[in-house]
Amino acid sequence: MDFLPVFLNIKSRPCAVIGGGDVAARKVRLLLAAQGEVTVIAPELTKELQEQVAAGAITHLAKQHSQAPLDHYAVVVAATDDANANQQIAETAKQSNIPVNVVDNPDAGTFIMPSIIDRSPVIAAVSTGGASPVLARLIRARLESLIPAGYGRLGELTARYRERVKKAFRNSDDRRRFWDRILQGSVAERVFSGHMEEAEAVLEKELAEFSPNSGMGEVYLVGGGPGDPDLLTFRALRLMQQADVVVYDRLVAKPVLEMVRREAERIYVGKERDRHAMRQEEINELLAKLAKEGKRVVRLKGGDPFIFGRGGEEIDTLAEQGVPFQVIPGITAASGCATYSGIPLTHRDYAQSVTFVTGHLKDGSMNLNWRQLAQPHQTLVFYMGLMGLPVIVEKLIEHGVSPQMPIALVQQGTTHLQRVFTGTLENILELVEREKPKPPTLIIVGEVVQLQEKLSWYKGEKKGYQGATSPVQPGTAL
Ligand code: SAH
Repeated sequence: MDFLPVFLNIKSRPCAVIGGGDVAARKVRLLLAAQGEVTVIAPELTKELQEQVAAGAITHLAKQHSQAPLDHYAVVVAATDDANANQQIAETAKQSNIPVNVVDNPDAGTFIMPSIIDRSPVIAAVSTGGASPVLARLIRARLESLIPAGYGRLGELTARYRERVKKAFRNSDDRRRFWDRILQGSVAERVFSGHMEEAEAVLEKELAEFSPNSGMGEVYLVGGGPGDPDLLTFRALRLMQQADVVVYDRLVAKPVLEMVRREAERIYVGKERDRHAMRQEEINELLAKLAKEGKRVVRLKGGDPFIFGRGGEEIDTLAEQGVPFQVIPGITAASGCATYSGIPLTHRDYAQSVTFVTGHLKDGSMNLNWRQLAQPHQTLVFYMGLMGLPVIVEKLIEHGVSPQMPIALVQQGTTHLQRVFTGTLENILELVEREKPKPPTLIIVGEVVQLQEKLSWYKGEKKGYQGATSPVQPGTAL
């Protein structure tokens, strides 16, 4: 971060704006909105500023900036149309440690002014650190449409009840739970629809009845997708933002984990083959225990919880113990990796079905129906298959699949580190030896892989090795 976002209290404090043009006038408007005592220092003023002087809203010092001392101001804005003059003003202010903003030059001053959405008392501020004011304005416009005007009224209502609620719930977690309920439930709805009195009556009732300790928590088994946080569902995101605690493992990408409410406790439970792994039964018990303490628990899984995710086992324990839960689907690795590498899993000419299969090695082998997997016109997707790749290649060829059958390995699919390796059953092991793909890697076998070269669209940071794929005619026996 290049700047620390803060909200400054300038109520009744002296603020200086140097410059009398339109830009200065815009800054004056903002400072007045935040109830600062504004003095404009400039030989001449625009009509708007003159009118404000006449109305007694601001003070005018008809001077050059160099003739006006700045040291008693709480905030200085350098808004002349002369870059050198602005720079000098900034230097003078900095010498006295006065916060100074220089228009159109974020680096010259000590603070910048963001684009704002004003739903007072709710204010959202957006900044690009001066990199692109236009982008900041675009984001602001989107936020404008997302934050209903009623949020201001909601903010006022909560401000009035803040102290009472604080007294009613000593524990900050309980307090948050209460406010969550108010701000996302029928009180908020009534405020948005303009029924303030009703909203207040409901709030009073909730305050009288809400009992934080009686509640059982809940577990949200959330599919976090393959890595790109943009692939989360709205529901996943909403629940992640309400979590008291998140239980996650190694497959969950960091940017996805970062979408969880910042204050939520984080519990890492590792993963198979990991030294710090917690046994599955222990995880199941942990989820139940946390929920029984009244917590909202997000169990965050990579991909989809019901596809090689042991999600079924985790909620089985919860169901047995009467703990409420919800399951939120995620984009599974097969879907994410296939789309982000340009490999359609089915295709009218090449594959009429797709099979997701585990390539996990148990005692050096895989107990799979190889005869079925070797049938033509299908796509096979192996999860957890990197270690077992030699077995996969050997078994498929043994059961009649052409050694020229295209195969793709997608490493860290959908992330900026995505790498895609393509080859054939015959040469893929050599390629793996050379390129050493790292987990998590997904394996896709089938004629559809040959479309990758043409359809690939996603460019991660590193360009993966794009091996040669010998074209296979549609319908070739596998
Ligand atoms: N529930 C998960 C799968 C868990 S099994 C899902 O629905 O995606 C773990 C395997 O998934 C890994 O061994 C790897 O084969 C695959 N995988 C998960 N995320 C991946 C990613 N971003 N890129 C490539 N493979 C991935």
